[in-house]
Amino acid sequence: MAMDGRSESLRRLPKMDGLLSRAMEDSRFSHKGRGLVADSLRACLEAARRDILAGKAVDVGEEALLQQAAALLQSQETPSQRPIINGTGVILHTNLGRALLAQPAIQAVQTVAAGYSTLEFDCSTGKRGDRYIHVENLLKELLGVEAALVVNNNAAAVLLALSAVARGQEVIVSRGELVEIGGAFRVPEVMEQSGCILKEVGTTNKTHPGDYSGAIGENTAALMKVHTSNYRIVGFTEEVSVAEMAAIAHDRGLPLLYDLGSGAMLPLSPYGVQDEPTVQEGLSGGADVLCFSGDKLLGGPQAGILVGKAAYIEKMKHHPLLRALRVDKMTLAALEATLRLYRYPEEALGKIPFYQMLSQPLESLEARGKTLLARLGEAADFTADLVESRAQIGAGSVPNETIPSRAVRLQLRSVTPEAFCHRLLQRPEPVAARIHKDTVLLDMRTVPDGALDALAEAVKACSRKEDACE
Ligand SMILES: *Cc1c(COP(=O)(O)O)cnc(C)c1O
Repeated sequence: MAMDGRSESLRRLPKMDGLLSRAMEDSRFSHKGRGLVADSLRACLEAARRDILAGKAVDVGEEALLQQAAALLQSQETPSQRPIINGTGVILHTNLGRALLAQPAIQAVQTVAAGYSTLEFDCSTGKRGDRYIHVENLLKELLGVEAALVVNNNAAAVLLALSAVARGQEVIVSRGELVEIGGAFRVPEVMEQSGCILKEVGTTNKTHPGDYSGAIGENTAALMKVHTSNYRIVGFTEEVSVAEMAAIAHDRGLPLLYDLGSGAMLPLSPYGVQDEPTVQEGLSGGADVLCFSGDKLLGGPQAGILVGKAAYIEKMKHHPLLRALRVDKMTLAALEATLRLYRYPEEALGKIPFYQMLSQPLESLEARGKTLLARLGEAADFTADLVESRAQIGAGSVPNETIPSRAVRLQLRSVTPEAFCHRLLQRPEPVAARIHKDTVLLDMRTVPDGALDALAEAVKACSRKEDACE
């Protein structure tokens, strides 16, 4: 556009005052509040001005601007954190909210959120009670431990345990276990924050029992074992078992702390996942304090669960950090309800979404895939078929472990897989998919039946040549 064309367009842009009075009479803006309407009109006028100066063709009509402003206001009303359809096949997807709660846990959250509760009230005495008691008793019963405590997440659990047990003293850890896990949880940095002194032993690939016993000195407060979770060294390696470490620690009157990370309370071997230690195994191995996440393999809310010997847990209960790391009533309600399911393992397996997704037979995944294919129908812009795939446990737990799954594969004709996936994410209910060898995979293990209609609609809209995806 020539320069004079641009000034002509700028001159023809409607004036703010006129636009605002038009908008205030317009049903699209009713009940929106004058200030917010003015802000959105101003933003659209500015965008139009920028586009004109950049030489783009701009509709400078009043109606076009009102339409844009109404759309802008509408989009601002969409919650920022909103549901997404998980077609990635990663069951515990850290970026998509990790564990989904079981129905009883959801119900429990609603109940305590909506009304007063006995959060810190002891009805037997009519006096102030203990907020942790609701889950402590259950954890004691389920795991046979002396004491338990819950904090905001497992990173907080490690921080609290080290601060309470080892501040100003040495904690001995294998070099092979000084790992970084997901979003910036680094074992050495958490140790430093806690005020304890990290004493590294062994090498990256091998640590022997003698490395631990040889490192114990006057100022040693504890031995610590860390489950390397999302990282594994294979080949010429050696680590010292929990039982061996516990024997070394106890021989010198020291506790063994064990950061288990994922915290499975039921064995995963029936689902083809090997080598994931359970909480019970860690405890029977002799760990004095064991901590794990609430929203990984337990299938509960975000939380850090500490269990073990009363002498150490008591120190944590009285540590000033606890107030800063404490969980709220909704977390406690969800956790209590989740833990209750574990009193009857069949209930846990049947009701916790993580186990439901993990245990779905391939035939159900195939049936779900076929339903999706039927909803997609014949289309000019893509071909779709059902293929074998691998789903993942996720959440920085169980490294490299994948389980067989089924996916609907899309070969797109009118857009690239990257552009298609980008469009899927711009939908009001976004869809996360996986690109594999120039095709797009929608893994059926993490897609509920109830999402199939929306998923089919999204695929059809986003695969068209024109950007018809709204
Ligand atoms: C995941 C993990 C953590 C961090 O747990 P959050 O609950 O995410 O804070 C710490 N340690 C290990 C070994 C883990 O696997």
